Amino acid sequence: MPQEILFISDLHIAFDKPEITQRFLNFLERRAPQASALYILGDLFDAWIGDDDCTPPNSKIRKQLKQLTQSGTAVYFQPGNRDFLLGKRFCKETGVTLLNDYEVIDLMGSATLLTHGDLLCTDDLSYQAFRTKAHMVEWQQNVLSKPLLLRLLAARWYRFRSYLHKRKKHQSIMDVNQETVLHVMQEHGCLRLIHGHTHRPNIHNFLINNQTAQRFVLSAWSKNVGEVLCWNSEGYQIESL
Ligand code: MN
Repeated sequence: MPQEILFISDLHIAFDKPEITQRFLNFLERRAPQASALYILGDLFDAWIGDDDCTPPNSKIRKQLKQLTQSGTAVYFQPGNRDFLLGKRFCKETGVTLLNDYEVIDLMGSATLLTHGDLLCTDDLSYQAFRTKAHMVEWQQNVLSKPLLLRLLAARWYRFRSYLHKRKKHQSIMDVNQETVLHVMQEHGCLRLIHGHTHRPNIHNFLINNQTAQRFVLSAWSKNVGEVLCWNSEGYQIESL
């Protein structure tokens, strides 16, 4: 069987979106076992408030991920801006490997940079300021030490506030900054970048030092469809679920 690597991101799984949860569980059970590796590039969950949160549908997802890793498919998770609090306990329970915010992999012979994508949106200064704060150890320890119920309520509030803020923000500042893209790709020595986050699925071709470079933007999952970027030795294709 040819080696196959799958990439997904931005499922935004939440209690009130059962169709996405079900599609993901079916994907883990039927489609993903055919691949040697699955990369989840962040925002798998619409909010992650700590590995001790076992409210639905988290337990079902943990169980299905564990089954997949035990069956021999390697699963990697890169934190998104919604689920960056996902931690070691979740990974231990599921067999998933946690990745750094920037990770370089060898994808069919080419160095490929993986990232969620929020770090590339450098025009959104207020978000980047929040991100810096929320990635500090003290901030995270403070949040995670609060009772679960309080964290559940706080997450609802944050989601609502983020919805309000997004309506006010200009569309262009919520996309990646091309200079930042070029800079991080050169810094990591990659001519291929795969990310999600912006919900603007596309394949962008451009040049870095006269060499062809590509940026793959993964699609967010919706109620009706979920997309997977599939790579094998022949190349890639985008599969709809
Ligand atoms: Mn995101």
